[in-house]
Amino acid sequence: MKYISTRGNAPVLEFDDVLLSGLARDGGLYVPESWPQLSPEEIRALKGLSYTDLAYQIIKRFVGDTVGDTDLKRIVANAYSNFDVEDVAPIKKIGDNEYLLELFHGPTLAFKDMAMQFLGPMFDHVLKTKDQRVTIVGATSGDTGSAAIEACRDRDNIDIFILYPDGRVSDVQRRQMTTVDAPNVHCIAVDGTFDDCQDMVKAMFNDQAFRNHHHLSAVNSINWARIMAQIVYYFWAALKVGAPEQKVAFAVPTGNFGNVFAGYAASRMGLAVSQFIIGSNSNDILTRFIDTGEMKMSGVHPTISPSMDIQISSNFERLLFDLYGRDGAKVSTLLDDFRKNGVFSVGDAEIQRARGLIDGARFDDTQTMAVIKTVYDQCGELLDPHSAIGVAAGRAKRRDPSVPMIELATAHPAKFPDAVSKASGITPNAPSRLANLLSKPERVDHLANDLATIQGFIHKTLSSDNQDGPSA
Ligand SMILES: *Cc1c(COP(=O)(O)O)cnc(C)c1O
Repeated sequence: MKYISTRGNAPVLEFDDVLLSGLARDGGLYVPESWPQLSPEEIRALKGLSYTDLAYQIIKRFVGDTVGDTDLKRIVANAYSNFDVEDVAPIKKIGDNEYLLELFHGPTLAFKDMAMQFLGPMFDHVLKTKDQRVTIVGATSGDTGSAAIEACRDRDNIDIFILYPDGRVSDVQRRQMTTVDAPNVHCIAVDGTFDDCQDMVKAMFNDQAFRNHHHLSAVNSINWARIMAQIVYYFWAALKVGAPEQKVAFAVPTGNFGNVFAGYAASRMGLAVSQFIIGSNSNDILTRFIDTGEMKMSGVHPTISPSMDIQISSNFERLLFDLYGRDGAKVSTLLDDFRKNGVFSVGDAEIQRARGLIDGARFDDTQTMAVIKTVYDQCGELLDPHSAIGVAAGRAKRRDPSVPMIELATAHPAKFPDAVSKASGITPNAPSRLANLLSKPERVDHLANDLATIQGFIHKTLSSDNQDGPSA
């Protein structure tokens, strides 16, 4: 399997190099050169497999010869061994032909674990095979940092540095990062905002000498391997409600478009999906795009579903590439416009094609809270604010009630206890992984909002680690 860039002007790579490089050199995102195809008979044959066996069957079609079968089986088994339920992603009936797919049973209680837990052992394997090491540097406003740390902890060939804005992440989110007791994990509380952290990470990637010296790498949501791992649960859920004989629909609470794009990929592989519904909070750039055909940036508004508080949806570029018949030059022009003017529009044919498969719906905080209460009253299921937007979107924009609607639950309610208890009057029970956080000691360095200080800290940490021994 070969991978090409959405901007059509970067080297064609195999899976292992796509994994390590993240962004393509022309600024585009990597996608498979063609979508692997599964016939209805092949999909039927996947029925009844365990989550890990299914993951192996799907993922092997994308990694080609770069990872051997035995290694891939081990990596997949390792990835999903730390989930707190046997079937990894349980599906529950919550209404008439309406299902909730729970993606929050991993170590950090949010759906990012579904891909990150796979990325950790996969990175480790590819780095060992190539005899390389990397330094992962990232900025977080909450969930991504802890998911990345859990995925990379204790891995021999990876050091990870996560920058977060001091005092601006929740106590739970901070402790999920700072209480991880692993020598290769380094949390940096920056005296600044999330944007300051993000800008410094970008600056470190643009500092070629620093980047090359420390082999910087990223595990952000544009990494193809994260999308790939997420395709699995679309097949998983569809098989549970009757695929391939039965068409299905999905409703997905959306920010960067990574989750729903994985569903789109499953449909391109042969899974019969009649409809995808994007749920947005008041940061509704995607919903507005579906309405108008115009992608237009606006400021970020803080909401009770913070993991969807985004200004642009970076993974949308992958869909755009397909909408334009895989014309990289066209995508490149549109994205240049977007960077310069904060806006671009697609043609009539392209927006019609998108609307054929995708609907969008927006919910503000008040509406989100109302849905949490309604669903709790109806069926006793407590939803976190992100998942509530998924359910609300599924109910609002469903085209055909005879098609099973699968709504994606992306975070455990105990991760957002304030909003959930305000909406429902119920304080969600914290799973034991969360309860233990309060008693563990924290490890974090508080640093000034200054690039040279942060780079100096990373440089010094890596130099002294490496003197202690090769595995530090
Ligand atoms: C990241 C995240 C989302 C948004 O997913 P995208 O792939 O960015 O669209 C939704 N809910 C939760 C809880 C998340 O952490």
